[in-house]
Amino acid sequence: MERETMTSTRYWPAADKEAGLQEAAAALAAGGVVAFPTETVYGLGADARNTAAVRRIFEAKGRPADNPLIVHVASEESLPALTERVNEIERRLIAAFWPGPLTLVLPVKPGAVSPLVTAGLDTVGIRMPDHDTALRLIAESGCPLAAPSANRSGRPSPTTAGHVLEDLEGRIDGVVDGGSTGVGLESTVVRVLGNTVHILRPGGVTPERLQAAAGPSVRVEGTASPAGGGAPAPATQDDDRPRSPGVKYTHYAPRGEMLLIAGDEPERLVEAVRLRSAEARRQGRRVGILSCSEHVSRYEGAADEVFDCGPRFSPEVAARRLYAILRECDRLGLATILAESFPEAGIGAALMNRMRKAAGGREITA
Ligand code: AMP
Ligand code: MG
Repeated sequence: MERETMTSTRYWPAADKEAGLQEAAAALAAGGVVAFPTETVYGLGADARNTAAVRRIFEAKGRPADNPLIVHVASEESLPALTERVNEIERRLIAAFWPGPLTLVLPVKPGAVSPLVTAGLDTVGIRMPDHDTALRLIAESGCPLAAPSANRSGRPSPTTAGHVLEDLEGRIDGVVDGGSTGVGLESTVVRVLGNTVHILRPGGVTPERLQAAAGPSVRVEGTASPAGGGAPAPATQDDDRPRSPGVKYTHYAPRGEMLLIAGDEPERLVEAVRLRSAEARRQGRRVGILSCSEHVSRYEGAADEVFDCGPRFSPEVAARRLYAILRECDRLGLATILAESFPEAGIGAALMNRMRKAAGGREITA
C-alpha cells in the first residue's frame, strides 16, 4: 500500500512572481516538492541529489519506481557535475535546442544524483526548459531539479496550475502558477549512440528539426508509436535500439472509449465521424467529438460536446489543447470520444503518438 501523507499545498499566483519564486526556491532547497510551469507541461520538482525529496515525487504521483525522472538544469554549465561526457552530436543538439523541449539521455556521473532519479540506470535524462519561471526557480534554488510531469500517474499531464491542484493538492508543498504552458506535450527524449540519434519519446522537438541540427551524416531514428500504446515492452529486445523505461507504462486514457478516425478527404472524414456518433447516441451514450477548427460547424447537433482542437494543418494548436480537452471529456462523463486524426508532419508526430495512447490504439480510416 502506498503511504498517504497529506500536506498543505501553497499556491503562488503569477501576479506575485518575485515573492513566489523566492519562497518556492527556498522550499526546494530545503527538500520540498514544488510544481512549476515549463514550456512543455507543468513539472513536479525536487532536488535531484536528495533521495528523501525525490521519493516524495514518486509518492505524490503514485509513479512506478522503475520509471526514471528527467533532471532540469538552468545552464549548460551544470552538465559536467551530472554527466561523464557529452559527445559532438549531443553538443550540436544542445546548441540547437536548449533551452527547449529536448531531453538528452547521457551517461550519469556516479553519485551525482539520487539513484531514485535514474531508477538505477547508468544514464540520466537532462534538459534545460525554455521558460523564465522554471529557469529562475532552478537557479535560485541552486539544485538540479528532478521533475516529471505534475499529474497523478495515469492522468493527462497538466497544462495549467489548476490541473496540478486537481491531481496533487494536499500531496505536494506548492505550485507556482505561470498560466497555460506553451507546447502542451512533453519533451522529446533522445539517446545518441554512435552516429544515430534515437528518439525514445516523440515530443516538442520534431524529428525534422533534429535531423537538420544533427547534420546529414547522422541518422535520426524514430520510435514507431505502437498501436495499443500501453503494451508492455518485451523483457528482451531483438534489436539494439535503446528503450526508455517509461514507454512500457500505460499512458493516460480517458474514461470514455476513444476512437481515432483518419482520412485525407474531409467529406468522408466528417461523414464517418457523424455516422459513428449517431450510432453511439442511439445506444444512449454521451458523445464528444474532437474536431479540427475547419470541421467544427459540420458537427453542430451531431454530438453532446464538440471540441475545437485547432486548425488541421497547425498541429501545434491541438498539441497545446489536447490534455485540457481530455480532462474535460472525463469531467463531462462522455462515454464515447470520436477524434479526427491530425497530419503527422512536425509536432503532429508527437500529437498523434499521445492521441493513439489515449485511444488505446483504436483507429480506423474513413
Ligand atoms: P515524464 O517525467 O513523465 O515526462 O517521463 C520522463 C520520460 O523520460 C520517461 O519516458 C522516462 O522513461 C524517460 N527517461 C528519463 N530518464 C531516462 C533515462 N536515463 N533513460 C531512458 N529514458 C529516460
Ligand atoms: Mg508524465
